[in-house]
Amino acid sequence: LAKAEGRNTYRYYNQSLTAAASERLETETRLRRALELDHLEVFYQPQLDITTGALTGVEALVRWRDPEQGLIPPDRFIPVAEETGLIDRLGQQVLERACLQVAAWDRDGLPALDVAVNLSAHQIGDPRLCAKIRHALERSGLAPRRLVLEITESTLMTQAEGALGTLAGLKGLGVQVAIDDFGTGYSSLAYLKRFAIDWLKVDRCFVQDLPEDRNDAELTQTIVYMAHNLGLRVLAEGVETQAQLDFLTHLGCDGWQGFLCSPPLPPQELVARLESREGLRRRA
Ligand code: C2E
Ligand code: MG
Ligand code: MG
Ligand code: MG
Repeated sequence: LAKAEGRNTYRYYNQSLTAAASERLETETRLRRALELDHLEVFYQPQLDITTGALTGVEALVRWRDPEQGLIPPDRFIPVAEETGLIDRLGQQVLERACLQVAAWDRDGLPALDVAVNLSAHQIGDPRLCAKIRHALERSGLAPRRLVLEITESTLMTQAEGALGTLAGLKGLGVQVAIDDFGTGYSSLAYLKRFAIDWLKVDRCFVQDLPEDRNDAELTQTIVYMAHNLGLRVLAEGVETQAQLDFLTHLGCDGWQGFLCSPPLPPQELVARLESREGLRRRA
């Protein structure tokens, strides 16, 4: 009996592995097609100065618009793109498009916005990364200073040695660097000092229970304090309530983004919303 059971368990395990593998393969095939058919879009979420409330930039976030399944969020395909290397093409598309978009907004008379683009671990390991970024900057005419490259804390930790060289190269280009999802990766701020970094983005998980959760409050306060001592600026992500924003302002955070201002939106929708809300073009 035990033997039979063992065999069944084995077969079950084997079948679910196969199911996962074939689902992954299907996603890969469909994603490859989506890249060819230009079914990927870039949405933009505002980033604001916490003291003045001014719009300072946007974060570019990829979306897959599938004719049958509708809008697919990045969490459902970025991991597959990472594993298969498709992230290189995907990432380059997002980068080029985001740079062209803010350059177009400049010409439309909007205030000069920074644009933040997420880089994956795979891209950090690409020896041609700096050349690719330079290409996107030259093609769009965007000043390097206005491009912010977001690298997650966990990518930085797992790629530490390679990332050191890459980050030095990025600094040489004149772009800004932000550490994304900070606080989830167990790195120490002292360690981060080795890297050329401009921004820390406090992960949403520390923001969501503010101001009530005392642990999160103290942690966020410590992050802001230590980051400032190291000459870094701090941006809080996932701000959803006025109480959270007030508390983060009180802590001395520098910037914020979150649903309280706006979710990520297609470019035209974002501009329409900002114009009606803030008279964006008049300020330009
Ligand atoms: P991320 O870079 O940390 O981006 C922030 C995520 O938080 C976005 O999810 C955004 O929609 C969400 N968010 C922003 N404000 C709020 C809020 O107030 N409340 C809540 N609940 N969520 C908020 P999204 O767009 O689904 O992206 C998820 C992740 O996928 C990103 O996390 C990033 O790691 C990855 N990703 C997105 N686009 C790209 C890309 O072009 N390249 C790479 N490599 N990764 C990307
Ligand atoms: Mg990000
Ligand atoms: Mg993040
Ligand atoms: Mg995240």
